[in-house]
Amino acid sequence: MAREARGVILAAPGEPAVMEPITLDPPGPDEVLVHVEASGVCHTDLHVKRSGGWGLPFPILLGHEGAGHVEEVGRGVTDVAPGDAVVIAWRAPCGKCDACRRGDPRRCSAHLRAGWRAHRASDGATLAPTLRTGTFTDRTIVHAAQAVKMPPEISPEKACLLACGVSTGFGAATTTTPVRPGSTVAVVGCGGVGLSVVAGAKVAGADRIIAVDIAPQKLEWARHFGATDTVDASASDPVEAVRDLTGGVGVHFSFEATGRPEPVEQIVRMLHHAGTATMVGVQGAGARATIDLGDPATGAFENKITLTVSHGGDSLPQYDFPVMARHYLEGRLDLDFMVTKVIGLDDVEAAFDDMQAGRVIRSVIRMDGA
Ligand SMILES: [Zn+2]
Ligand SMILES: [Zn+2]
Repeated sequence: MAREARGVILAAPGEPAVMEPITLDPPGPDEVLVHVEASGVCHTDLHVKRSGGWGLPFPILLGHEGAGHVEEVGRGVTDVAPGDAVVIAWRAPCGKCDACRRGDPRRCSAHLRAGWRAHRASDGATLAPTLRTGTFTDRTIVHAAQAVKMPPEISPEKACLLACGVSTGFGAATTTTPVRPGSTVAVVGCGGVGLSVVAGAKVAGADRIIAVDIAPQKLEWARHFGATDTVDASASDPVEAVRDLTGGVGVHFSFEATGRPEPVEQIVRMLHHAGTATMVGVQGAGARATIDLGDPATGAFENKITLTVSHGGDSLPQYDFPVMARHYLEGRLDLDFMVTKVIGLDDVEAAFDDMQAGRVIRSVIRMDGA
């Protein structure tokens, strides 16, 4: 049986993302073929393009924020069956690495993956799947542990957001650095991930959430997700503004969701004594930040701060994604508002433009053509 599909491919460095026919091998042992129905377009897909493949060999199958249903299962798969609605996770702890063996699978460094089963139809070239998934396609093959069952009430175009952007931000504020009820929070960078940090901080019970961005539209979106205050970083210094808003003492928790170094310096300096700063955005090779250590008010040593890194929200998808789905279904996490645009598989380059211009929280591809 020929397994045919369409996929969005980066053929070589510097080339645009183009939709092409693809073929798939049968799923191997412990693998599943997922009929992808929707996929969010994430900043990391653009990062793969801009960074010359982000370590992957070309040609590359883009996309890593997909949802759909299981179509076929390989030998030994018992946890999911054809017809099950699933979100595809790019994290699936291996159980064997140092972190897994010491009982901390949220810090796994060797996630489970399927073999590379997709090929370009024109020449048979094997496609490297982005983040072990490859979801800008109507069919993809992943490890069964990456297929996370979803309640049928959540549609694929909302469920797919849990796979990366939402779980990354929400998880940063609830898992990596659990925000305490009644605390103060600042979030620098209010794209899809930063807005999800705001949403997570709200669900966690933060008293004040200060959103920082240079785009007025994003600050407005942040208020929708629970920000109590906003700072336009193009008009004032974000560190001073956050300190002013907190009576000079700074916030208990600060998050950076920009992937740029300068905001990392800022989230350290805007902290309350003994506060925690969390980096969420993916930093490029060569990125460097300078952290003041000794300033009596804001220095990292003097102020006894913790600076930490969230890896995609440090989520355990099989446990956390259904919890987040419940937050959505019970009205605490507004995934509907996150989907600014529904597009088709051949609109990926236009979606990258929209993302860079800050016109969308998320563009979501619907494989049936929107
Ligand atoms: Zn592991
Ligand atoms: Zn992503």
